[in-house]
Amino acid sequence: MQQTVKQKGLSLNKKKWSEIVKTTEAYARQKDAFLVQFEHVKYLHYLGEKRELRDELVKAGLPNRFGLQARQWKLALDDALHTLERQWEAAIAEVKEHLYRHKGMTDEEKHYAFWLLYRHKKHGRDWKRIQAVFTGEDVASKKINLDAKGRAKVRKYLKRTFRHVLGKKPRVKRVRSFVVDQQMYRVFTVGNRQYIAVATLVPGERVIIPLAGVHAIEGNLRVILLPDEQAVEIHLTREPKAYPPGEEEVGIDLGVTEVFTDDAGKKYRPEYGKALREMSDRILDKSQKRGKLWTLYRKFLKQDPPKARRILRHNLGLAKQTKRNKRYRARCENEINRAFNEFYKERRPKIIAYEDLAHLRGKAKSKGLTRKVSIWQRSIMKKRLEYKNRVHSVTDPGPQNAAYSSQECPKCHWVDTQNRSGDFFRCRKCEFTADADQVSAMNLKSRLHDEEQAARRRDNPVHALQRG
Ligand SMILES: [Zn+2]
Repeated sequence: MQQTVKQKGLSLNKKKWSEIVKTTEAYARQKDAFLVQFEHVKYLHYLGEKRELRDELVKAGLPNRFGLQARQWKLALDDALHTLERQWEAAIAEVKEHLYRHKGMTDEEKHYAFWLLYRHKKHGRDWKRIQAVFTGEDVASKKINLDAKGRAKVRKYLKRTFRHVLGKKPRVKRVRSFVVDQQMYRVFTVGNRQYIAVATLVPGERVIIPLAGVHAIEGNLRVILLPDEQAVEIHLTREPKAYPPGEEEVGIDLGVTEVFTDDAGKKYRPEYGKALREMSDRILDKSQKRGKLWTLYRKFLKQDPPKARRILRHNLGLAKQTKRNKRYRARCENEINRAFNEFYKERRPKIIAYEDLAHLRGKAKSKGLTRKVSIWQRSIMKKRLEYKNRVHSVTDPGPQNAAYSSQECPKCHWVDTQNRSGDFFRCRKCEFTADADQVSAMNLKSRLHDEEQAARRRDNPVHALQRG
């Protein structure tokens, strides 16, 4: 993941502002046109070869409907393809959720389903596999022990589930930003003031924007409109600074009360549970209330239309709700960030053992947290872990097998459901006692070296993906 640095510009005069707005509009319309054009499944494989699509369009002679310069046009294409890719990745994550819970499939069928949805860590996703789900093309590898009929059944199931989770097709809803590459801007300083000269629709002409501070600016930038101030904000993404790896092997047990517990028994951010609970209650409470209001709205629609409209405007408006949800999310996210920051600083890990994040759903469920909250939590945790691992040069071994991780004794390896009672662990065989979450973290850590288990996982990847 990359870091976003924001740099604000000073208010622009009318002429400059209008040039910037015109460029943003053309960019937004072009991006939207690309979204509409390439949203179809038949173009899906291009998400893995974005460059090829661009070259093909260039060869075909780019139809320039909105007046963008060639470079801007290519960036809008790239932007659109990334938006589509994000939507697909989110849908794939949700389809996986359904698979974890799906009970009517054999191991081999699940194995094939996960193979279709697999994303290689280094080489990325083979989009042709996802495409096959929709076209019915029979893709497989030597590792799949499932006949053609079984494979067709799995693809059919996935297709149905995708249709269910994909939702609305992405469109550009607001004219808000455009991207420029290094050749489309120039940065210079006069006195203490930094300026950026940005290319607009007119070849050779640039709008000069005075900036509020001084920054190292390079690479692709996104120019964001701030209409209230007739100013722009420049967003640049860059690789975060990397730290050398630490010394320790560490295990963590992710939670819903605290962010996680490490193998030394420290619980990171116990304040997290309350924040998460409030966010969950809030969303549940809100959606129930909204359900009732919709019923009211429909009732009044015939009897008293003005009243129905008032309900729609004042009580069912989304702006306030979105703002409040954002605040709850920000609070939880803040706790997660602080937990990881403290942990990396204190433990200086070399490698971190953790369980499959799908397990968090079970924990969230037992605390009565909503599904929406649990999905959100998992995606944030995953991103955070990946990001921090990159910054701190930590090796990611992938999720450890979490089967019996809370019932196995980390000292003598005796497995017994009775070993654990609530938050407390006491081995029925050797009397070892500890906090239950700490025990999980210790077991996950020791599984880093469990060769037999690793071999088993390699032979049957389904076991690594399913819940323990
Ligand atoms: Zn024991």
